[in-house]
Amino acid sequence: MALKVLKFGGSSLADAGQFRRVANIVKAESDRRYVVPSAPGKRFSGDDKVTDLLYRCYDASSNGEPIDEIFTQIEERYNQIIRDLGLSISLAKEFEKIRASILHLPGRDYVASRGEYLSGIVLAAYLGYDFIDAAKVIFFFDNGLFDAEKTNRVLSETLSKHERAVVPGFYGSMPNGTIKTFSRGGSDVTGSIVARAAKADIYENWTDVSGFLMADPRCVENPQVIDVITYKELRELSYMGATVLHEDAIFPVRFAKIPINIKNTNDPAAPGTMIVDTPPADDLPRPITGIAGKMGFSIITVEKDMMSTELGFGRRMLEALEMHGISFEHLPSGIDTISVVVASSELEGKREPLLADIRRMVSPDVLHIEDNIALLAVVGRGMVKTKGTAARIFRAISEASINIRIIDQGSSELNVILGVEEKDYLSALKAIYREFVG
Ligand code: ADP
Ligand code: ASP
Ligand code: MG
Repeated sequence: MALKVLKFGGSSLADAGQFRRVANIVKAESDRRYVVPSAPGKRFSGDDKVTDLLYRCYDASSNGEPIDEIFTQIEERYNQIIRDLGLSISLAKEFEKIRASILHLPGRDYVASRGEYLSGIVLAAYLGYDFIDAAKVIFFFDNGLFDAEKTNRVLSETLSKHERAVVPGFYGSMPNGTIKTFSRGGSDVTGSIVARAAKADIYENWTDVSGFLMADPRCVENPQVIDVITYKELRELSYMGATVLHEDAIFPVRFAKIPINIKNTNDPAAPGTMIVDTPPADDLPRPITGIAGKMGFSIITVEKDMMSTELGFGRRMLEALEMHGISFEHLPSGIDTISVVVASSELEGKREPLLADIRRMVSPDVLHIEDNIALLAVVGRGMVKTKGTAARIFRAISEASINIRIIDQGSSELNVILGVEEKDYLSALKAIYREFVG
């Protein structure tokens, strides 16, 4: 029998109506055996996600402020779902425990994780599935990194004892038992970990859009759905801000080559997007698969005559960054220039000492930092096969009268990265989309 793991995002579990949709989806196929829920998300624009309310509670408590008002809102979100679903369970004891521990400041991650934990209890009761606390099956090392092997061992063994179960997303535990979460959006990662441990045939990731779209729907009107995308393409896009799937959700399933199907809870019949290791044999990709982008970058540029003949120049430049604990994103270079693109947040409080060290270590003729840069990633496995894709991208941008600050093309020919001023970001994204999709 085939086995499916399903992850439902916050908007899919925002209220009782959404819980009903979720149950209908799960019950529609008997091979949908393991379910990973997020915490309830926004019910309408301007609403709060439970996870955000929990973070707010923690912050209030650590500032010595009262938490009652926010905590009552959280209790009410769950109680209303339980009432509307006609369930007979009560979370009163759980709330009491969580409230008490927030006041004793047990750690920000613990508090944030309770959104998924409670969501899991309610969903398991509603589906009639077993509840498996993620703290008992998902593990982190002392240094905070995810312990993939121990998790896979314990989780596989645990799942084998449960025909059908709900495992809350987003968190696990440290060797000393304290709770640790993945970064925001991390329930996608849990879903992937469960899919690997269950040796699932497919990992269905249910959200509020009908698949991975060629561009962010908040930037481009009605973007087309991508039918098939490879893990590699997806990682490039999600790293660069296409938030529909957490960028780390690829790793656990990649080795086992388990496909991920992005599906829409509000339109279950739509085929969604298949994320695969290798595209099908009859694959006819478009020149570009998708576009994504992010703001908030800085370009550090050094120029020096005859740089190309100076052995170790690049290494010393990067060493200066390393000394300040700054990681870089891209490194486009010319004969006598090197530009290093970094997230501007990495430079906070370090600018002057960093510049001083670069001056000391490479004695550049020119050295400057330019802020307010947006990066765009144009990604596509079809680029290798189609001549002139880069030319089309540049033409589209220049016809929109936008100045390109940097260009970086990976040697895999899977993507082209462009840096533009933040004020030009939206127009650049739209111009590229228009050029390739119309
Ligand atoms: P969930 O709560 O289900 O995990 P997220 O909010 O994390 O959902 O991700 C889905 C959202 O991602 C969409 O509602 C959409 O606004 C946004 N998004 C950004 N880029 C893309 C893209 N390329 N394709 C689809 N959705 C995107
Ligand atoms: N609830 C968590 C968040 O808001 C995790 C998730 O939704 O995947 O980030
Ligand atoms: Mg998400």
